[in-house]
Amino acid sequence: DKINIAIDGPAGAGKSTIARMVAGRLSYVYVDTGAMYRAATWYFQKLGVSPDEVDKILQIVPDLDIDLLPGEHGQQVWVNGAEVTDEIRSLAVNAMVSRYAQIEGLRSRLVSLQRQMALRKGVVMDGRDIGTTVLPDAEVKIYMIASVEERAHRRYKEMKEHNQITFEQLVRDIAERDRLDQEREISPLRQATDAILMDTTEMTLDEVTERIVSLCRT
Ligand code: C5P
Repeated sequence: DKINIAIDGPAGAGKSTIARMVAGRLSYVYVDTGAMYRAATWYFQKLGVSPDEVDKILQIVPDLDIDLLPGEHGQQVWVNGAEVTDEIRSLAVNAMVSRYAQIEGLRSRLVSLQRQMALRKGVVMDGRDIGTTVLPDAEVKIYMIASVEERAHRRYKEMKEHNQITFEQLVRDIAERDRLDQEREISPLRQATDAILMDTTEMTLDEVTERIVSLCRT
């Protein structure tokens, strides 16, 4: 029988790469919840609505239509008819996503979309609050960590705008996002009590994937 797998942890711990690999191994569906917060951020920025304008945001939230679709080159992200797969990885979105992610009305809308996606099981979902809030009944829960230097290093390698940001800035950006995610009032970044802690600092992608797949078989 199919199960649901929740993978949480701070920015750059390897969650999305691992979640995609685990989903591939089990023929499960990968759901990148960070991409949903990023798509919402892109949309609010396009409308010129800052994270401080909570009333305006709450008016827009019911009409927010976010889709994650399987594409030829991995998952495609759509928001209200615009394909934003690359745009949501920009520095502008990076810098603000954790601010928008603090807004309760936005979170509750995305959480309900995420729960719908997992109803039929067979989902690998990664984020910050999956094991604690979105899918508290997930059969396998992982809390993935790595040193901040290692995480910045991984993000640096996958970035397309190297000329615009130094490695040191990236370390600060990640540390600041972690702080906002851990300190926010609504479903902050936490290890669920029944989640398995995995420090991936010195593990290869294949080792981490293998561990999680083996947990799913027991
Ligand atoms: O996973 P990723 O780094 O793309 O997530 C971007 C941001 O979206 C996080 O730093 C966090 O502020 C927010 N987020 C969240 N809850 C999730 C997933 C992401 O608040 N489940």
